[in-house]
Amino acid sequence: MGAGDARVEQWVRPEVRALRAYQVPDARGLVKLDAMENPFTWPEALRQQWSEVLRGLHLNRYPDPRAEELVGSLRTAFAIPERSAVLLGNGSDELIQMLAITLAVPGRTLLSVDPGFVMYRMLGIFAGMDYVGVTLRAEDFSLNLPAVLTAIERHRPALLFLAYPNNPTGNLFSAGDMEEIIQSAPGLVVVDEAYAPFTDASFLQRAGVPHNLLVMRTLSKMGLAGLRLGYLVGPPDWLGEIDKTRLPYNINVLTQVSAAFALRHAEVLERQTAAIRTERARLLEDLRGLDGVRAYPSEANFILFRVGTGRARAVFDGLLQRGVLVKLLDGAHPLLCDCLRVTVGLSEENAAFLSALRAAL
Ligand SMILES: *Cc1c(COP(=O)(O)O)cnc(C)c1O
Repeated sequence: MGAGDARVEQWVRPEVRALRAYQVPDARGLVKLDAMENPFTWPEALRQQWSEVLRGLHLNRYPDPRAEELVGSLRTAFAIPERSAVLLGNGSDELIQMLAITLAVPGRTLLSVDPGFVMYRMLGIFAGMDYVGVTLRAEDFSLNLPAVLTAIERHRPALLFLAYPNNPTGNLFSAGDMEEIIQSAPGLVVVDEAYAPFTDASFLQRAGVPHNLLVMRTLSKMGLAGLRLGYLVGPPDWLGEIDKTRLPYNINVLTQVSAAFALRHAEVLERQTAAIRTERARLLEDLRGLDGVRAYPSEANFILFRVGTGRARAVFDGLLQRGVLVKLLDGAHPLLCDCLRVTVGLSEENAAFLSALRAAL
């Protein structure tokens, strides 16, 4: 051991040392159903047009710092209320980080529900906040409203995240329960609609009503994961403060232009997400037909399913041996024991997954 080792322990913040780095497995050569990506590529003609657009760019210049053209495209494509401001992030993960940095004061709480999206906890802790996760109901992963309200009363969270639909469970929470939480929260409430393309439910039109309600979305799950673009919608005074924590030029030239291009051809992505919704229904039905599998309903582009007691790791390995990568969730939270999550893929990928699963079971 060199002298350097002791200094890592001495100087790295204890909260950071206690965390585990976000793990991304190697998916080369596998049917990749672990990360909620849209499996469809673009038609060749569209790829051609896109490369023409890219040819016209000059990478020697910094991007438009406010990405005004892209913000305009997003406003039109998603009918963002005119009264609302829009703030862009390098993925919505970056927006979560900006929100946490804006509100973090030692001793303040970031509150969410568990099992939920892990980045809320991680980025809250990075920013120096305390994290409180209120456990969902074990039967159906719905909100435990009295427990959330009690936690709000007790911890007075500066920042509260609710994913709608929730990841990794796939369900929508009761809109009435969300309403009560929003009304009771003393600080900022962010409804994370990463899976908006796969559900008809949304709070987008209600951003800013009440004033502490923001809505966050991403283009990742809809088919542009490689671009890294998230957007936050809400009242200009809130977003103006959060914008101060943004790194200059956080949305690069290629992302600005490519996302605006994709939104001009939104019907292509819409056809793809509609096909994923159809596939999701079929996959759910097929999973429910398997002995020893309990599949949960989903309003997102993935399905959570539970296998026999103590079997999840073996099923995960069995799928991997047959060339299919899903997400093993057993061990991530007590409510997820024996659980795995599969992203809805192309119909042939889903078929490959199902036959591998039958064999692995
Ligand atoms: C995937 C996901 C995100 C992050 O999306 P990026 O824009 O790719 O950073 C945010 N929230 C939830 C609930 C997600 O599942």
